Amino acid sequence: MTRRLDGATLRGPLELTADVVVVGSGVAGAAFAREAAALGAAVVVVEAGRWFEPPDFPLASFDAMALMYRDLGASVVLGPMPAPYVQGRMVGGSSPINGAICWRLPRDVYDEWLTADPALRDALPWDELEAVTDSLETRLNVRPTDPTIAGRKNQLLARGAEALGLEHRPIRRNVSGCEGLGRCMQGCPNGRKLSVDATLLADAEAAGTRVVSAVEVRELDLSRGRCVGVRGVTPAGHSVRVKAASVVLAASAIQTPVLLMANGLRHGPVGQNFQCHPGVSMAGRFPEPVRMWEGATQGHEVIGLRHEGLKFEALGFGTAVLAGRLRGVGRELSREFDDMDHQLDWGAAVRAEARGRVLRMGRHPVVLFSPSARDVALFRRGLRVMGEMMLAAGADFVDPGVRGAVARTSKVADLVALEASGPRFAGAYTAAITHMFGTCRMGSDPQQSVVRPDFRHHAVQGLYVADSSVFPTSTGVNPQIPIMALATMCARRALRSPP
Ligand SMILES: Cc1cc2nc3c(=O)[nH]c(=O)nc-3n(C[C@H](O)[C@H](O)[C@H](O)COP(=O)(O)OP(=O)(O)OC[C@H]3O[C@@H](n4cnc5c(N)ncnc54)[C@H](O)[C@@H]3O)c2cc1C
Ligand code: SF4
Repeated sequence: MTRRLDGATLRGPLELTADVVVVGSGVAGAAFAREAAALGAAVVVVEAGRWFEPPDFPLASFDAMALMYRDLGASVVLGPMPAPYVQGRMVGGSSPINGAICWRLPRDVYDEWLTADPALRDALPWDELEAVTDSLETRLNVRPTDPTIAGRKNQLLARGAEALGLEHRPIRRNVSGCEGLGRCMQGCPNGRKLSVDATLLADAEAAGTRVVSAVEVRELDLSRGRCVGVRGVTPAGHSVRVKAASVVLAASAIQTPVLLMANGLRHGPVGQNFQCHPGVSMAGRFPEPVRMWEGATQGHEVIGLRHEGLKFEALGFGTAVLAGRLRGVGRELSREFDDMDHQLDWGAAVRAEARGRVLRMGRHPVVLFSPSARDVALFRRGLRVMGEMMLAAGADFVDPGVRGAVARTSKVADLVALEASGPRFAGAYTAAITHMFGTCRMGSDPQQSVVRPDFRHHAVQGLYVADSSVFPTSTGVNPQIPIMALATMCARRALRSPP
């Protein structure tokens, strides 16, 4: 029996039955399905996006966004700093188009969670979290970027960090035989990224899980305080129903609260406490060609200021995205294009303290987010530090890209002034958001949380949330491995509880 069912090929309604139905096949959904299937459950995963195999991945960034990203990668948070929040929409979720950066949940972040709610100590024991993380890292072959495929952009970041005395290291990534083609965000054309579709979901399929793609779940079947299944729709409008003893939402920190609200489940702070890591970037020009599109897409990171809420990474974009930072028109722009192989971008992921909100408009999310004054100060500090690292690594000039502030400069004094007296208005900064948390957070107090410490919805039996919606706070680091680890623990708890 084939384990895959493409909703786009259905010619009529479909009804399936399972022990567990999982909504979303991304990082959380795949990890949940793998563990649940290993524990013997009959699992059906329902995914809104379609399957892509490495040969299908487009070369150009904008083609990739059109095919594999939600809303062309152009969903935007509303507020003083309208920034794109970017998500994949395909089997594997955001994993096939992410940067492959792997971090374990830092102990200091875990301790923050326990301080806020001591009940989590017993519900999420650190030793279990560590053991689950170890086994995920083994399955995903997580290891530091091989220096032979690091590429110039990553080597220069190391040089800049060294000059400023900041702790740095090759990024730990989930790849195997990475050739440094620099195309992670369009999907690895040679299948070298060990994204969840090719690993955790494949394991789940091997253990009997069925994956239904191209079906968007719209309704939760609720009956007498229990969730007993889901209903979705194919692109042609055929209905798909899955009946199950347990329903697991793994549709991401944006879509999961929308699904709950759309089904009248407004219990607790659903949609509130949205947290994220806005990323600001610094462009720079080097005298020698740096060919930013070559080498591991994101191969080096600076971690010495993580305690301040700042983490720096080399970035790797397709040339079409990089070109967005070029200046001028006509001949000037044409010269800039000729010079593109000398230019690169580095990014600072900011652990923002501000909390936003996900609202629902029909079936669609509206995300409100307004960075705090302290968050904007971190944007300025991050840009200053990146600029200083670039100049120390030999850049001719750097370009912070802040409206109403210094443009291209080669003077450290300008960067110091940017940090001290640059714009206070968040709208002066250009940021993008790829890490999102907290919109159905877990906790023991039903007034302050949406799910219990065992991931079950406070008010509905048989309904679980497995994605980063449940995280009590942001992580300050790239979250895919902590999301997989918590989703694995969610599966253990869901299958242990009486139906
Ligand atoms: C460009 C980019 C780069 C990133 N780089 C990194 C990195 O290097 N390292 C790292 O740790 N993290 C990275 N991240 C973040 C990381 O990928 C996400 O945090 C993680 O994928 C979130 O997991 P998730 O399961 O919550 O959501 P996703 O992985 O996004 O999966 C959610 C899935 O649910 C599906 N879905 C939503 N609604 C429905 C519905 N109603 N019915 C059916 N299906 C539905 C979606 O189509 C999607 O496939 C990156 C993200 C992006 C976008
Ligand atoms: S850097 Fe290139 S080869 Fe390596 S995983 Fe990413 S896309 Fe694949």
